[in-house]
Amino acid sequence: MIILIAEDDAISRTLLERTLQRAGYEVIAVEDGEKAIAELVKQDAPRLALLDWVMPGKDGVEVCREVRRRKELAYKYLILLSSRESKQDIVAGLESGADDYLTKPFDADELKARLRTGHRILELEDHLVEARESMRFQATHDLLTSLWNRAVIVELMSHEVMRSRRERSCSAVMMCDIDHFKSVNDEYGHAIGDDVLREVARRLHNSVRSYDMVGRYGGEEFLVALNKCNPESAVSRAENLRAKIGGQPIQAANVRITVTISIGLALSSEFTQCTVEEIMHQADMALYEAKAAGRNCVRVARPSGVAKPIEEFPRETPVLAP
Ligand code: GH3
Ligand code: MG
Ligand code: MG
Ligand code: MG
Repeated sequence: MIILIAEDDAISRTLLERTLQRAGYEVIAVEDGEKAIAELVKQDAPRLALLDWVMPGKDGVEVCREVRRRKELAYKYLILLSSRESKQDIVAGLESGADDYLTKPFDADELKARLRTGHRILELEDHLVEARESMRFQATHDLLTSLWNRAVIVELMSHEVMRSRRERSCSAVMMCDIDHFKSVNDEYGHAIGDDVLREVARRLHNSVRSYDMVGRYGGEEFLVALNKCNPESAVSRAENLRAKIGGQPIQAANVRITVTISIGLALSSEFTQCTVEEIMHQADMALYEAKAAGRNCVRVARPSGVAKPIEEFPRETPVLAP
């Protein structure tokens, strides 16, 4: 582990450096507070620091305050070093944000024991951050497919539709539904059905640009939003998604299964007076039309309410090949 030493006195600095190197630490040693801060804010900066209290320029207490102010930094374990021993001094040091306090001259074994405490605290902190990240992921993503979950995709899409309205651009909202998916479950079982859902999700996700959005809307339904989308190209992009799913069989366990999707497409630029919910409803109605037209096809919602056929598509059921 890397440790930062900030100490203006050259002899103390060298002594500390040697003690810590012997204890197995990689050491960065600086002689004032400004340099200490510059080291602590770097990427992959040390997480443990020994800061002398009295230094020219920024002192140890100011370094602690500055580091604690910068909430974006990963947690740092800060130990103040000082010859001050009064209770008031200790309180002032700890209130500046220091985690611990050592009086000089320090005892090498005590120093190492306190650094071990620092390690434990940093480990706990890392576990907490990990747990928080994992909870945040679970709260916003669908557990089976790792796509955005329904609440989040609808929320994100609402923002994008509002934005495209302000900017007079267009968002394409697509409801995508796997055709005859029940028969995949019936034929191969739920676990294989889950594999197919994951692969469909992966293909959808990989087929859009980084600023587009894909979420799992429900069981075998996905919501895709193409942002800043040229209305002229929306249909061909929907066709492209359809081809990405149906064009290649999916390998699940030891079977290869071809599934197709039907897509209902609604362009925000065609429904300028509608709420986001109404636009989604339009996409859903277009999806219904696609299903009625034989599945494995795209239908576009029109303000008149009649979904427009793109062209004639083969009306086929999925090929369930063993
Ligand atoms: P259609 O072409 O009309 O959409 O037919 P469909 O069979 O896809 O539609 P239906 O709504 O009848 O059935 C959807 C099926 O999706 C039923 C349900 O068991 C399955 N399903 C929903 N969620 C999951 C899931 O998480 N895992 C698996 N394996 N199946 C799921
Ligand atoms: Mg000093
Ligand atoms: Mg379906
Ligand atoms: Mg469905």
